[in-house]
Amino acid sequence: MNASAKIAAPIIDISGGRKSFGAVDALTNINLSIRDGEILTLLGPSGCGKTTLMRLIAGFESLSAGSLKIDGKDVANLPPEQRPVNMVFQRYALFPHLDVFENVAFGLKVKGVEKSEIKQRVSAMLKIVQLEALSGRYIHELSGGQCQRVALARALVNRPRVLLLDEPLAALDLKIRQHMLVEMKRIHAETGATFIYVTHDQDEAMILSDRVVLMERGRIVQVDRPEDMYARPQNLFAAKFLGETNIFEGTLVDKDTVETASGQRFKSALDIKANKGERVFASIRPELFSFQASAQGASQSAAVTICDVTFIGSRSFYEVAFNDGTRARLQVQRNGRSPLPAISENAQVFWEAENVVVLPSA
Ligand code: ATP
Repeated sequence: MNASAKIAAPIIDISGGRKSFGAVDALTNINLSIRDGEILTLLGPSGCGKTTLMRLIAGFESLSAGSLKIDGKDVANLPPEQRPVNMVFQRYALFPHLDVFENVAFGLKVKGVEKSEIKQRVSAMLKIVQLEALSGRYIHELSGGQCQRVALARALVNRPRVLLLDEPLAALDLKIRQHMLVEMKRIHAETGATFIYVTHDQDEAMILSDRVVLMERGRIVQVDRPEDMYARPQNLFAAKFLGETNIFEGTLVDKDTVETASGQRFKSALDIKANKGERVFASIRPELFSFQASAQGASQSAAVTICDVTFIGSRSFYEVAFNDGTRARLQVQRNGRSPLPAISENAQVFWEAENVVVLPSA
C-alpha cells in the first residue's frame, strides 16, 4: 500500500446504497469507504454489479436509496462533469482524426485552458505514460497498449481526484496486459490519484490493488487487502473466487475442529465464526499442504494415495486420496532435496492449523 493510502481520509463514502433497474436489484446494501490515494479493485463475476457501482460514482446513474459522498459532500445532484472523477472505458473511444497530443489535450481545450498551460500539462502527462516520442502519431498508428496509455493520459491530464477504470485492459492480449498492470501502478504512484478499477480477473486484482472489493450478486462480500483476502476469505464464495482451494465439508465437532462425514479431522488455529455442531467447510490452499512435517513438529497429517501428478516447471500438482476417499489437490515446490512420491504410491501429507480456514455454510 502506498504511504498516502495508509493515512488518508475517505474520498468516497457510500452508505446503505441500493440501485434497482425496474425489478432488478443491481446493488443492495452497499457500504463502502474508499481511501484517498488507494488503488481499489471491484472484483466479481459477470453481472455482480461492478460497472453499476462505477457508473454511480461517475454520476452516470443515481442511487435508488442510500447516500454517496465524494470528499465529504453528498453528490446526489451533481452531474458527472462536476464530480472530481474521470472514467477510462474498456473501449477507449479515442478520436481517430486527432494525433496523440491533440487527443490528450482535447478536454483541456474544451475547458478553455490557456494554450501554454495545455502544452505543459499534456507534455508532462505524455512523459508519465511514456508516449512523448509518439505525440504526433494518429490513433491507427498505435498498438493496443499505446492506445490504452493515450486513454489514461487523456483522463489523467484533467487531474481528477478519482480515476475510474472499467476493465481497461480487457481488449489487450495477455503479455501487454501484464506490462500495462505494472505501468498502471507506476502511473498511479506518480499522479497520486485514487484509482478505482473494475475487473473480473482475480490475478489483475491481486497484482494491482491496495484493497479488493469482492462482489457477488449485487452485494459486497468482503473488502480486504489482496493477501488478507487470499489467506482469510470470509466465506465459501471468497475462498473459491480468489485462487484455488480445497474445500472439506463437515461439522464443527469441537470449538476448533472440523470433522468430515467419513471422519477426517481438520483443526484450525484461526478465528471461527460458527458454533459447535454447525455444518461448516474447512478450506486449505493446495500450496499449504506438504509431504514433510514442519520443523516445529506441530503439523496435522494423514495417509494418502497419490492419484495423479502434474509437473509444471519448478512446481508439481498432486491429486491425492485420503484413506476415507476424500480427495485433495496439493501444490509442491520441487527443490531436489527430498524425493517426491509418484503415482499410486502411498504417502503422508501434512498441514498446519494456522492454514485451515473454517467457513460458515451460509
Ligand atoms: P460484467 O462483468 O459482465 O460487466 P458487472 O459486474 O459490471 O458485469 P453490471 O453491468 O453492473 O455488472 O450489472 C449488474 C446487474 O444489473 C446485471 O444483472 C445487469 O443485467 C443489470 N443492469 C445493469 N444495467 C442495467 C440497465 N440499464 N437496465 C437493466 N438492468 C441493468
